[in-house]
Amino acid sequence: MNIVLFGAQGSGKGTQAEKLVATFHCHHISSGDIFRDAFEDGSELGRVAHSYIERGELVPDDITVEMMLQRITQPHIARAGFILDGFPRTIAQAKALDEGLAKLGREIDCSVYFDVPRAELIKRLSGRYICKAHQHVYNVRTKPPKVAGICDMDGSELYQRTDDQGPAIEKRLDIFFSETIQLLDYYRAQNKLLHVDGNRDIDEVSADLIERLKKYLSR
Ligand code: AMP
Repeated sequence: MNIVLFGAQGSGKGTQAEKLVATFHCHHISSGDIFRDAFEDGSELGRVAHSYIERGELVPDDITVEMMLQRITQPHIARAGFILDGFPRTIAQAKALDEGLAKLGREIDCSVYFDVPRAELIKRLSGRYICKAHQHVYNVRTKPPKVAGICDMDGSELYQRTDDQGPAIEKRLDIFFSETIQLLDYYRAQNKLLHVDGNRDIDEVSADLIERLKKYLSR
């Protein structure tokens, strides 16, 4: 099973991806996490990507597509299937993804759009904290950790991403609502779109999503 999750920053993609992995036992692949890990490792890819990420801009398509196709086409990932979180973000990336998978005789089975109003996204992003070890996501209002500043899952320290603060938030949302939103038409035209109301409690969204995905995938 190969699924694309898309939605604006703060729409809940990462949180829902973790829940889907627990249900469907496939791999969660987040392009943002891979870029951040590459930066922590001090690699050239991480250094280049960091300059775009800090400004709230998209990393160029050629760099992003190469990195993601390399990951997705690894045999153990291709075999178990994957949930993509944060990729594709442009029509060019979506086409390159379809072409790369077609070469392996695979395809995207379904895409899920998490629909959340912009005012709610800004509220969520300003309260969002991420764990240093594995990038588990918390929110001071909607999903606080049991102990302030510490990840429930692995005990690592929580931090606020620099691109979740200040003008980078607005810029990232502008790019989403002008560019990435075009994926709605792309996947609708392929009859592979599930539109989900993401402006609800986390557990309500995941129960609805899992039920609809099961139905969708058994069509
Ligand atoms: P995210 O954690 O998904 O919000 O991604 C953090 C940042 O990584 C984004 O603001 C972009 O700068 C970069 N990034 C992640 N995924 C992509 C992508 N598919 N295309 C271009 N840039 C990306």
